[in-house]
Amino acid sequence: MSLTTISSQYADKKPSCRICKAGSSISFNWSYAMEGKSADLPNSKDIYINPEPLKTGVLYQCRHCQSYWYLDADEQYMHHVADSKVALVQAWSQSDLRLSPQQLDILQAIGRTAPDIYGNGTEYNETPCQVKTTDGTLYPLAIISIQQHAPYEAWRNCKLATEIAEISPSPYALPHEVRLATTQAEEVSMSFAPTLVQLSNGEVVILNWTNNFIKKPAIDSSKTTLSDKSFNRNNMPPLYRLADEIVYFIADA
Ligand SMILES: [Zn+2]
Repeated sequence: MSLTTISSQYADKKPSCRICKAGSSISFNWSYAMEGKSADLPNSKDIYINPEPLKTGVLYQCRHCQSYWYLDADEQYMHHVADSKVALVQAWSQSDLRLSPQQLDILQAIGRTAPDIYGNGTEYNETPCQVKTTDGTLYPLAIISIQQHAPYEAWRNCKLATEIAEISPSPYALPHEVRLATTQAEEVSMSFAPTLVQLSNGEVVILNWTNNFIKKPAIDSSKTTLSDKSFNRNNMPPLYRLADEIVYFIADA
């Protein structure tokens, strides 16, 4: 979300609560809403009850429907928290999620993927890697996200850094310079910010917006390079989309 966003909502959903707009509202600019500048946004603090101060920010419930809402520490945005995320948010608040100096060294060697040129991702410090958890499970498509805010996002599959036993480079991660190039891609049309890359077998594909991984049979992702072909709308290479879900491990800043 960029800094100027007033609100974001699901385009295809109607609110299930007419008071807090849960169901359709994802997040909204808190001070803008409280100044009564939009008829579509809540305009009173009175609708939020049961404040629960967290490590940063405060968790509330809607007085009317009991939906959970998270106000970040700077009181910039109020975010809807799905019921299924509440236990994770509370565990995040109660846990020391600082990484060890050794873990931070490994992440530094891999290299962080920066926010994009439009400001998307400024609230995260993310590094793709492979994580082995304390129960022995291997996550080769992992991102360690060092962040100040609670992991409220419905669209991220998050675990906490307390589950990390071992961090290593991911076999599917793109080289640092390719990842950074995807963060620099310009939006040439609605929701389309292409980067052309060449895979280890010579095939050229498009990555849309920031990408961290390629997982394709018989492809060595570490050998991916930026293509010397320029983007041509009339002759576009195929678009690559990661089919598998990324698992985010949340750590304290
Ligand atoms: Zn409500």
